[in-house]
Amino acid sequence: MNKLTGPLRKINTEQKLLRPLQVWETACYAASAVGYLTGRPGACLVVSGPGLLHALGGMANANMNCWPLIVIGGSSDRNQETKGAFQEFPQVEACRLYSKFSARPSSLEAIPAVIEKAVRFSIYGRPGACYVDMPGDFVNQQVNKSSVKYVKCCLSPPVSTAEPSAVSEAASVLAHSSQPLLIIGKGAAYSRAENSIRKLVDQCGLPFLPTPMGKGVVPDNHPNCVAAARSRALQHADVIILLGARLNWILHFGLPPRFQPNVKFIQVDICAEELGNNVRPAAALLGDINAVTDQLLEQLVLMKWKYPSYTEWWKGLREKMKINDEMTKALVLQKSLPMNYYTVFHHVREFLPTDCILVSEGANTMDIGRIMLPNYHPRHRLDAGTFATMGVGLGFAIAAAMVVKDQTPEQRVICVEGDSAFGFSGMEVETICRYNLPVIIIVVNNNGIYNGLDANTWKEILESGEPAALAPPACLLPNSHYEQIMSTFGGKGYFVQTPEELRSALKASLAEKQVPSLINVMIDPQSNRKQQDFHWLTRSNM
Ligand code: ADP
Repeated sequence: MNKLTGPLRKINTEQKLLRPLQVWETACYAASAVGYLTGRPGACLVVSGPGLLHALGGMANANMNCWPLIVIGGSSDRNQETKGAFQEFPQVEACRLYSKFSARPSSLEAIPAVIEKAVRFSIYGRPGACYVDMPGDFVNQQVNKSSVKYVKCCLSPPVSTAEPSAVSEAASVLAHSSQPLLIIGKGAAYSRAENSIRKLVDQCGLPFLPTPMGKGVVPDNHPNCVAAARSRALQHADVIILLGARLNWILHFGLPPRFQPNVKFIQVDICAEELGNNVRPAAALLGDINAVTDQLLEQLVLMKWKYPSYTEWWKGLREKMKINDEMTKALVLQKSLPMNYYTVFHHVREFLPTDCILVSEGANTMDIGRIMLPNYHPRHRLDAGTFATMGVGLGFAIAAAMVVKDQTPEQRVICVEGDSAFGFSGMEVETICRYNLPVIIIVVNNNGIYNGLDANTWKEILESGEPAALAPPACLLPNSHYEQIMSTFGGKGYFVQTPEELRSALKASLAEKQVPSLINVMIDPQSNRKQQDFHWLTRSNM
C-alpha cells in the first residue's frame, strides 16, 4: 500500500527501488559488495557507451575478487550499429575481458533465459561478474506476453565435496606436520564456512592467519589467531591449509623468501584451475569450503589428531606476537602532535561497535588499519581486495548500509579512508546523505599519497609562484576540510587534530543514529608504518 501523502503520492514505488549513485563506477562497486555480503548478485544498471565503460572498473574488481555481480547496460539501437550511433560501443565484446559471461538477448522474448543464465553463472562455480546488454530499441518494442518463455530462477549453487582419497591425504600430511598453519581467505567468508572453520580451529588447536577480508571468519581475538606474527608464521610453517585464498601477490605466491621452499600446501578451492597455481599442492581438495572443512574435520577426529598447544612452534609465534604488540604499543602511546596512524587507530578501536561493518581503503591507512582494527564477525570487512582498487570505499559503505538497514538497523558502517582514497569517490557523500545511511566516514588525512607536506612547507611552495612545478606529485592540499563536504549535504562534519577531539567526535558520531558523519583526522604528514621484516610486494626469484 502506498502510504505517501501530498506530492509524494506521485512517486512510483518502483522508482524508489532505483537508488542512483553519483558515479557509475561506484554503483558497480556497490552492487558487487551486495553480492559478497548476501551471496546473491547485486545488479548494476548503466547507460550506454561511457556509462558502461565506467562500470568496467567495478566488473573487473568483482571478477578479481570472485564476487557475483550482474551489470545490465543500455546500448545503441541495433539498426544504427556501425553508423556512429549515440554512444555506440562494442559493449558485449568489451565486457568479455572483465566477466564470466557477456551476452545480448536475441529478442525481448529471450530476456528471461539470458538473465537466468547470467545469475546462475555469477554464483555457480567460482563466483564472478556477468554482463547483459539491452539495446535501446528493446525499450520501445512491444512484446506478445504469450510468446515469452518464463524461466524459473536458478537453484542455489550445488554443494560439492572433495574426493575421499584427497581428504585422507590432506589429513595425513597435516598429522605429520610440526609447524602447521591455517590460512583463511575471503572465499571462506563468502562461502559462509565460519562454523565449520571455527570447529576445525578449536578441535585441532591450529594456529590461523586470516587474509585481509578473511578477518572475522574466526574472530581476531581468538587465542589461536597469529596475525600479529604474520611474517613469522608464513615463513616457518611446514604445512599450510589454504581455505579460500589464492597464492597470489597477497600471499607472496607461496614462494621463498616469504615461505619455506619445501612447505606443503593443502589447498581447498571450488575452482579446479586454481589448484596448483604457483606451487604444486601436497593435497588438492576440490569442493565447497564448508563441506570440505567438515570432511577434513571428520577425518581428523577419527584419527584423534590435535596439534599440541605447548610446542616450540607455538612458543616462537607467541614470543613474536608479544614483541610486535609491544612495538605497536610504543607507537600508540606517542604523545606528540600531529598524531601518528597507530595513535589514531588505537582511539578508533576503543569506540568501534563489535558488530560494525568496516570498510577500508588507502595505502598506510588500510595496511595499518587492518592490523589495528579488529573484526569479530565474518563478511564485516570490505577493502581494496585482490585488485588493490582505490575508489571502492564509499560504494562499499553504501552497499553495506543498504544491506544492514532493513535487517539490523542499529548496525553501523564505519568507513576508514586515506585522504587520497577518499578523493576517488568523495562525492558519494551526497548519496549517503540523500538516503540517510548509518555511515561514519573517518578520513585519515596526511595531506597526500603515502606522505604529504605540512602547511608551512606548502606556503613556501605557493610563495615561490610555481606550485605546479615544485609540489611533489604525491602531495595534496594540506589541511583540506573534507568534513565540510559532509556538512554541505546535511550530515555532521568534524575536523580533529588531537586525541581528545578524536574521541569526542567518535562519541558524538556513534550517538547520532539518524545522521551520517565524517571525521577528518589530521595526522603527521610524515607518519609511516613501523619497520617491516619484508617489503609488502616481496619479489621471489623462483
Ligand atoms: P584472499 O584475497 O582472501 O586471499 P582470494 O580472493 O584470493 O582470497 O581467494 C578466494 C578463493 O576462494 C578463490 O580462489 C575462489 O575460487 C574460492 N572460493 C569462492 N567460493 C568458494 C567456495 N564456496 N568453496 C571453495 N572455494 C571458494
